[in-house]
Amino acid sequence: MPDDRPSFPARPVAPVTLSRLKAACDGWLETEADTERYRTAWRDGWRGTADLVLRPKTTEEVARLVRICAETRTPIVPQSGNTGLTGGGQPHAGGGEVILSTERLREIRAVDPLDDAMSVEAGVTLAEAQAEAEKVDRLFPLSLAAEGTCCIGGNVATNAGGVQVLRYGTMRALVLGLEVVTAEGEIWDGLRTLRKDNAGYDLKQLFIGSEGTLGIVTAAALRLFPRPKDAATALLSLPSAETGVRLLAALKSALGERLTAFELMHPSCFDWATETLGHADPLPGAGWRALIQADGPGPQGAMREALEQALAGRMEAGEVLDGVLAETVAQADALWRIREDQAEVQKRVGAGVKHDVSVPVPRIPAFLEAADAALEARFPGTRPCTFGHLGDGNLHYNPVRPADMDDAAWRAATLEVNAIVHDLVARFGGSITAEHGVGRLRRAELGRVRSGTELDLMRRVKRALDPQGLLNPGKVLPD
Ligand code: FAD
Repeated sequence: MPDDRPSFPARPVAPVTLSRLKAACDGWLETEADTERYRTAWRDGWRGTADLVLRPKTTEEVARLVRICAETRTPIVPQSGNTGLTGGGQPHAGGGEVILSTERLREIRAVDPLDDAMSVEAGVTLAEAQAEAEKVDRLFPLSLAAEGTCCIGGNVATNAGGVQVLRYGTMRALVLGLEVVTAEGEIWDGLRTLRKDNAGYDLKQLFIGSEGTLGIVTAAALRLFPRPKDAATALLSLPSAETGVRLLAALKSALGERLTAFELMHPSCFDWATETLGHADPLPGAGWRALIQADGPGPQGAMREALEQALAGRMEAGEVLDGVLAETVAQADALWRIREDQAEVQKRVGAGVKHDVSVPVPRIPAFLEAADAALEARFPGTRPCTFGHLGDGNLHYNPVRPADMDDAAWRAATLEVNAIVHDLVARFGGSITAEHGVGRLRRAELGRVRSGTELDLMRRVKRALDPQGLLNPGKVLPD
């Protein structure tokens, strides 16, 4: 874990401030035991100290609390479902911060199928938002493995992506409007559902992906889509990652918008999924795999036929070696589970250095080749464990410790591994974080890979919206 000391002197929040915050909040937690789950991340050991966890129930309550924090210069760590993977939602170790969790802002404010839109509060989980859309025969298409726990507030704050970005885009494309409490405790009601709105700057885009550093998201107006009534899922064995890129292009041409997901997985992902979680490998001994999903309006079976047709010539073209097409929803779910469990698999395998990078899709094979070779040269025996959303150029490139290297030495090499991978990402025109965000994990790296001009513009935005620097200090922007 890189050095994560904040750039503010940690001093405990004054007792009088804590009393004011408690009096203004319907639900707060204070003891070590009660605050443990808010102070600790699910993975990677991020944890810290919070003088208080505030759990307001309404936007007005959030605003009241933020005003007290602004008056008393109390730093705030916003949080929703606490599933983030970059240490952005945890306080620092020294204390002196309060966590403001939006998990109890739980209202579904409006669902309008005629407008293909719904407005929900920040503490509604992603799975609940999906279910609300389904009730009116619509789809809210953001989908990711943490969807039962992560919340809309966190999804907005991290510009979450997931497995259907290829067809529907990230949260930037799915958010129509926002309600935000500013660093001064004002409420900005931008919960509009308009598709066209050129009246001034698009403020919501500033808050999306800002990881709690510019404002506290209390509600979001979300875009809905027709719910697909028919789906086809296939797992294919590929000769190489390079053929995966060609296959993706061919399927895009054949299926157009019906192609909703195209995931690429290294063979070791399957080996470890079998070993650690007991998954059955549907294509034992195969090399790179592609997990593909196509959705359509129906009738039932039409998508399977369309996918079969689209794949028909691909074997002859040498892009596919073998494959299975799910016959039932249960089979499709089982294939997806192997993909969705990869975060858990990695947690159990341990010893992986995590990267969440994006590279232009046609350059992915060359990037993989260069990164694998560079790591092999520096750390012989490094085992690749790469998976990700090939359709979006987004790879979780997580090399695992060489078998003959001890854990401590590999952990000590983390920053060097990061630098090797991220330098190549830059060389191939990519980004050091495609969907998980910067948080604390990539803060120093951001300073290394983005230009001085770009960083200066970001700092000016931060100063304009959070002049006292109280919202999630020590996150995202490097010192
Ligand atoms: P939190 O973890 O609570 O917070 C994340 C960040 O947002 C923090 O910086 C926090 O300060 C800020 N924040 C939280 N709530 C607010 C708010 N109301 N206002 C302002 N700032 C706020 N992510 C993807 O994009 N794609 C994936 O495919 C994906 N897969 C995952 C799989 C697993 C198993 C896990 C554990 C995580 C995965 N993630 C993925 C990461 C994570 O789930 C997402 O980043 C998610 O959007 C975070 O939502 P959350 O509610 O848990 O946010």
